This record gives sequence, structure tokens and C-alpha cells, in this order.
Amino acid sequence: MADINILENVPLAGYSTFRCGGPAKYFAEPATGDEVAGLFRLAGEMNWDVFVLGNGSNCLISDEGFDGLIIRIGRNMSELKSEELEDGRVKITAGAGLPFARFGNYCTELSLTGAEFACGIPGSCGGAVFMNAGAYGGETKDFVTKVTYWDGESIRDIEGSECGFGYRTSLFEKLNSEGKTAVILGFEAVLSKGNKDEITALVDDLRARRTASQPLDVPSAGSTFKRPEGYFAAKLIEDAGLKGFALDDSGAQVSPKHAGFVVNNGGTARASDVMRLIDYVVEKVFENSGVRLEKEVRLVGNFGG
Ligand SMILES: Cc1cc2nc3c(=O)[nH]c(=O)nc-3n(C[C@H](O)[C@H](O)[C@H](O)COP(=O)(O)OP(=O)(O)OC[C@H]3O[C@@H](n4cnc5c(N)ncnc54)[C@H](O)[C@@H]3O)c2cc1C
Repeated sequence: MADINILENVPLAGYSTFRCGGPAKYFAEPATGDEVAGLFRLAGEMNWDVFVLGNGSNCLISDEGFDGLIIRIGRNMSELKSEELEDGRVKITAGAGLPFARFGNYCTELSLTGAEFACGIPGSCGGAVFMNAGAYGGETKDFVTKVTYWDGESIRDIEGSECGFGYRTSLFEKLNSEGKTAVILGFEAVLSKGNKDEITALVDDLRARRTASQPLDVPSAGSTFKRPEGYFAAKLIEDAGLKGFALDDSGAQVSPKHAGFVVNNGGTARASDVMRLIDYVVEKVFENSGVRLEKEVRLVGNFGG
């Protein structure tokens, strides 16, 4: 802990795929669970609020930034190794800061099947566990067998079956929403071997489908809203006449390519512009369909109520 560098007044827009938001008052990138624990202790002593950031691909950061300590779990915690099990399956150990797509690609390199969907998700492994990230019928919960996390007092290991995974949620997300500490440090996954050509073909197919249907060249945080039970958010937004809609020329727009994505064209919108558009979409969709969309995107910092 002694040498961990705590930076001050660090601009966060570059740490969010939305490419907007103000600075962090304090910012650190720990390399170990002990450093995470040390940062929490320090924050407690200094009375700083703490936010744990992965790759920022599901976060909208306030224009005021974050008036506390951002603990970024990134490349300093990106261990990746594999071990063949007696039954022929393979156990992968991944640090929370490892890009989830790198984990997916590594599985492909080892001819392991089940993580093909991960190759197209731009978050970290920790963020994928926290959100139970998923796509095209696969979810993180499908292969995670153990998660190591800091619970505010100690570093604990729990089984995948104890992680409370659900649609875009996990035990860690629930603890977080109750104001409790749960920092994912890494996971273990067990996957079976498959046919490398078939795995590679599936990865390519999913990538092509994503590129064809999603605005991957424009800043966003992916799907802005959760899928409401029995509906598709993008369809509800389209039905409300909002595909391609913008309130102004700030850059915040409902993507003309995929109505489920609010995008930041040219990276010129402020977080408040994005937020105003999100709120507008929620209201118009509710008026049109009676369904109230819930944000999948997580808010960081102050958005005024
Ligand atoms: C173009 C695009 C496409 C996307 N497609 C998909 C998709 O197909 N499926 C899907 O599920 N998501 C998708 N996403 C959303 C996003 O990539 C996932 O939600 C991802 O899991 C978020 O990971 P992250 O590391 O970026 O998390 P962040 O955005 O940094 O954080 C998200 C939440 O997780 C918490 N968190 C992150 N790391 C940790 C940690 N180590 N310990 C504790 N809490 C942590 C944060 O506090 C925050 O509350 C997409 C995003 C983009 C931009």
C-alpha cells in the first residue's frame, strides 16, 4: 500500500466509453487485493466517497465528476492463466481488470467453448461479473465457478452458485445498491473444449452481427436500458418514434442504427445532455406504451436528485 500512487483531479471522460464526465478528486489503480483494502481504509480515514470503476463501458459520469476516490480496476489487475483439469475441462483464472474480450479471445485460442459472446463486450472481467454481462444467449454466470472479492473487511472467495446472478445483476451489484462494499478482484471459470473452427466461426458471426446492428464507432455505454420483461427496449423506443431522435445539437442522440443505444456523437455531449435525453426517452416511451424503462447504465457522481 505504501507506494500506491493517488492522483488528484484526474479527468474521467477518457475512462468512460461515453467519453464525457468531469474529473475524479482522487484516483488510484491498485494492483492487488491488499492495495484495494488499503485504499478503502484510507478513504474511511479521510471520509472520502469511493466508486469502483472497471472499463467504464456501462457508466455515465457526471459533468461535475466524482467528489471522492475512484478506484480503477484495470490493467494492473489483469492476470490470466489456465490449468487443465483431470476431467479434460480447463480452468481459467482472470484478474478483474482484464478486458472481458481478452478473456473471450483467450478461451478461443485454447479451443474452449461457452465464452464466444464475451469477445464483443468492451468491459472488464470485474464489470462483467458485477453486471452478469451477456449477449446472444450467453451470460457470464454460465462459466464463472469462483469469484474473489473484497467485502470491506476481508478478501473472500465464493462459488459461482453463490453469486446471485440474474439478468444484469449479481450479489455484488445488490450489495452495492445497499451501500455495502464488494470489490471483485478476479474470477475462475471452467469451460469445456470444443472444435476450434466452430468456436472461431461463432465468434466471427457474433462480431459481424454486432457490427451490423450496433453503432460501435460512436461513443456510448451499449444498451442504455434494461430489457423490460416481455418487451425489447429498442422496439419500444422505435415505436415511440424516437429512433435517431435528438433533443438538440449537443451530440446526445438515440442511435439511428440501434434505438436501444443513446450515443454521444463526436464526443461533444455533456453528461447532462445525455441524461436529459435518457429522461425524455423514458417519459415518451411510458406515454406511448405504459412501460417504464429502467436504466442499465450506471450513474457516477451527482446528477441532481
Ligand atoms: C458498444 C458496447 C456494447 C456493449 N454490449 C454489451 C453486451 O452485449 N452485453 C452486456 O451485458 N453489456 C454490454 N455493454 C455494457 C458493458 O460493456 C458491460 O456492462 C460490462 O460488463 C461493464 O464492464 P466495465 O468494466 O466497463 O464496468 P464499468 O462500466 O466500469 O462499471 C459498471 C458497474 O460495475 C461496477 N464494477 C466494475 N468493476 C468492478 C469491480 N472490479 N468490482 C466491483 N464493481 C465493479 C461499477 O462500480 C459499476 O457499478 C456494452 C457496452 C458498449 C459500450
